[in-house]
Amino acid sequence: MATIEHWIGGRRHPGAAVRTSAVFNPATGQRQHEVVLAERADVDDAVAAARAAFGPWSQASLSARTKIMFNFRELVNAHVGRLAELVSDEHGKVLSDAAGEVQRGLEVVEFACGIPQLLKGEYSDQASTGVDVFSFREPLGVCAGITPFNFPVMVPMWMYPVAIACGNTFVLKPSERDPSAANFVAELWRQAGLPDGVFNVVHGDKVAVDALLDHPDVAAISFVGSTPIARYIHQRATVTGKRVQALGGAKNHAVILPDADLEYAANHLTAAAFGSAGERCMAISAAVAVGGAGDPLLDLITRKATEVVVGPGRDPKSDMGPVVTHAAKDRIEDLIDTGEQQGAKILVDGRGHSVPGNERGFFVGPTVIDQVGTGMDVYTEEIFGPVLSVVRTDTVAAAIALINANPYGNGTAIFTSSGEAARRFQREVQVGMIGVNVPIPVPMAYYSFGGWKDSLFGDKHVHGPEGVSFYTRGKVVTSRWPHVEAAHGASLHFPTSS
Ligand code: NAD
Repeated sequence: MATIEHWIGGRRHPGAAVRTSAVFNPATGQRQHEVVLAERADVDDAVAAARAAFGPWSQASLSARTKIMFNFRELVNAHVGRLAELVSDEHGKVLSDAAGEVQRGLEVVEFACGIPQLLKGEYSDQASTGVDVFSFREPLGVCAGITPFNFPVMVPMWMYPVAIACGNTFVLKPSERDPSAANFVAELWRQAGLPDGVFNVVHGDKVAVDALLDHPDVAAISFVGSTPIARYIHQRATVTGKRVQALGGAKNHAVILPDADLEYAANHLTAAAFGSAGERCMAISAAVAVGGAGDPLLDLITRKATEVVVGPGRDPKSDMGPVVTHAAKDRIEDLIDTGEQQGAKILVDGRGHSVPGNERGFFVGPTVIDQVGTGMDVYTEEIFGPVLSVVRTDTVAAAIALINANPYGNGTAIFTSSGEAARRFQREVQVGMIGVNVPIPVPMAYYSFGGWKDSLFGDKHVHGPEGVSFYTRGKVVTSRWPHVEAAHGASLHFPTSS
């Protein structure tokens, strides 16, 4: 059984290795690796390596940095298949889905390849007589990323390509449940020519996270994960003066109006609810059927849900793989039990799902629950599994009010043929990412990704323009050269334009 070590200063680093954690293959239920869990001293080593690399890297020309970004882009592109296998074997998602995740991460790398354009400042000639004003942005220093299990390639790639292209150095603390992809990426950075210490990986749990949050040499923290941890990260890291963006959990609603193409809506809802076994922060977990849409929609969805092929992620016939751990399977099945006890109607039941030949895998089948009330646990909890809850309302206004009353505000979608209803929805709904006939509206890399309310703590979304802003700080220079005409006099008055 391989032991997955840290990556510090351009090479594998065993660390103290006092504690380790098992990494499972969710399709077989077998332990396949051990990952070392960092102690504070290991985090100190990683931050020291990143700090030492920051000086030269932040001074490297835009051309030099861009060249390495392009090299890295080529290497990731050449290894999409291998990265997808690593993800599938530790997360469980099917290979095509894992390759899609790598592709969406690659788009952020491509965005970061344009860093010379993105870092252009502003210039005002002759702002006052003989005075010019200009601005530019500088990197922050050592930045850290703490990431969840559900996108072990894409979510870290929302962060470090932009941070590094901006001239920062980076310490990644990936999820301990699927850690291998991070080390593979570190090796690709090395091959791309990134100087040692610019990109580091520490594996671990709360001990490693707390060490990063408290470390005086870490300037900024990017976090993606569940809401309670996001809130904690934001509180603890801002106390020590760090810049923080902490993206939290979600409960994403899709509203289906009676005028929608219901076959189209049912196809996309099935994919959005059960793709990646529902373990996506943008998964649709609540369908809000308005007026007469409910019954015909449910007929279609129940049929499509039962057609989903559940099996190992490596099997090309599988549409949906297992969930990540046995504990996740138990929790999801318990929540379905509770839904039933609280009066909801289970139309498609994924509990106890068994895959022949993989009986010990962590499988839960697609589950559709009707007559869900907003007080039930299946509605209030982020289930993070292949479970679609259906809520019914009479009007669009009631559907919007329901979404706005929910504490989360990550993503949402509306299915309709009415431009008027869609426009009203997009203007009134209090959610960061909105789809119109698009169930999973993940923004392109050149926009920024992020939710509202309990789905984000901090001000800045990730990647896109807000990512560049997050990983840099501005300077404004006001300059006058004494030999310029009329610039010789000085007065004690507050300086004003002339
Ligand atoms: P998690 O919050 O359990 O873990 C995220 C990270 O925090 C991991 O690196 C983990 O090691 C660390 N961590 C866990 N417990 C900690 C603690 N007590 N103290 C300090 N650090 C701790 O999340 P997860 O289960 O890995 O991922 C699923 C969650 O992530 C879901 O809630 C999902 O909605 C959310 N998510 C959100 C987005 C988004 O963009 N908003 C994207 C992906 C996932």
